[in-house]
Amino acid sequence: MSFEMDDDDKVIVDTAAAFARKRLEPFSLDWDERKHFPVEELREAADLGMAGIYTSEDVGGSGLRRIDGVRIFEELAKADPTTAAFLSIHNMCTWMVDSYGTEDQRTTWASKMASMEAVASYCLTEPAAGSDAAALRTKAVRDGDDYVLDGVKQFISGGGVSDVYIVMARTGADGPRGISTFIVPKQTPGLSFGANEAKMGWNAQPTAQVIMEGARVPAALLLGGEEGKGFGIAMNGLNGGRINIAACSLGGAQAAYNKAITYVSDREAFGGKLIDEPTIRFTLADMATSLETSRLILWKAASALDAGHADKVELCAMAKRRRVPQDGSALWTTCIWESAATFCSRSSSSRFSGTRRRTATRAFCAACRADGFSTWDAATARSCAKPPEWGLGAGDWTSPRRPGTIWPPTAFRFSSGLLRTSPIPRDRSR
Ligand SMILES: Cc1cc2nc3c(=O)[nH]c(=O)nc-3n(C[C@H](O)[C@H](O)[C@H](O)COP(=O)(O)OP(=O)(O)OC[C@H]3O[C@@H](n4cnc5c(N)ncnc54)[C@H](O)[C@@H]3O)c2cc1C
Repeated sequence: MSFEMDDDDKVIVDTAAAFARKRLEPFSLDWDERKHFPVEELREAADLGMAGIYTSEDVGGSGLRRIDGVRIFEELAKADPTTAAFLSIHNMCTWMVDSYGTEDQRTTWASKMASMEAVASYCLTEPAAGSDAAALRTKAVRDGDDYVLDGVKQFISGGGVSDVYIVMARTGADGPRGISTFIVPKQTPGLSFGANEAKMGWNAQPTAQVIMEGARVPAALLLGGEEGKGFGIAMNGLNGGRINIAACSLGGAQAAYNKAITYVSDREAFGGKLIDEPTIRFTLADMATSLETSRLILWKAASALDAGHADKVELCAMAKRRRVPQDGSALWTTCIWESAATFCSRSSSSRFSGTRRRTATRAFCAACRADGFSTWDAATARSCAKPPEWGLGAGDWTSPRRPGTIWPPTAFRFSSGLLRTSPIPRDRSR
């Protein structure tokens, strides 16, 4: 297995990195503070093929591989892990509809999602069903040509803002075989949303309950047209979801590491630069080793998923688990994703009891403080934020294929590992 990137692979990564530096990084701290969900920038990413990275080209996807996907998400997350993570969830939804939808669902919905005309959310978790997702209770009952959905989905990224919700609901008996998947448009009667959760980070993407009270969707929106397949669809989606989140964690950690190197190279104390202190150099070496080993298992898992390898599920889970948790640089990400109790410790709609919330919060703060990260989005990003004058120069927008030309008037679009250029509207070409 070779992980050497060829020229096309590098162009894909460079394109994602340039977009991230130009359109995400200068704004990410402000978005977090204002709780602003950057839909316009997400749609710009879609113009570059990043809303359907590993979705088929016939519905407008980029037809790339999972390994391209994790490389793209790492680059985006170096600039803004929050927005990169949301885009990864959207990609998971696009892939699910493309892979399991009927022809009509693919052409209608997967194509809207690949262009981000429809921003999508993934709705599996419920107040009483998180890790044990097969215990979900949301019901979908057939009524003539419709299904009527009742239940509550918890912690849904994009909840209340997304245009379409990919909902796992029970159409049959208890257990995984009784679950089906539905495409639920936002304007569905009976669909409503909880308040945006009060989080300690990830504020640039909303997290809310998705509430279904007699929500009536046409039977034509049962994904794949067949009941009982939903749990398998949800879990297969999560294979990619896991490695994508791992990639976002890795990107955030790599960015923190890069900033640390810059800082200790510059900072002088006790008559010398910090970088010349052996203890600091050893720590940095350990962090770099940790980043590289995380990247290796991530790329291996992504390649296994591309190849349909027998061990793909385990490898994807391992990649998510090994997303740099051993050193502090990515501890924050491990914390925020793993522990909803922690994350929603201040949330009024949290189902966690006061004691449990307080315990989780204390554990989170102690662990992160030990490594100098109280909460990443709020603290690390603030201390690492680049001054505005570090904004990109024209060089950053130079076409990798045509040196000397300025990129903004055209958008690279990923297609089967080859790039073609397509015009993008002027007002998006900043
Ligand atoms: C910011 C944020 C965004 C999210 N976005 C989405 C989304 O878009 N869509 C969606 O569907 N969900 C989303 N989630 C939900 C997320 O996937 C769940 O939080 C996760 O699946 C864990 O479920 P839970 O919170 O109910 O924890 P629980 O299942 O209650 O677990 C609590 C703790 O117990 C541990 N645990 C559970 N079972 C066992 C066991 N058998 N043995 C040992 N330990 C165990 C868990 O590892 C965890 O540490 C989001 C969560 C957060 C915090």
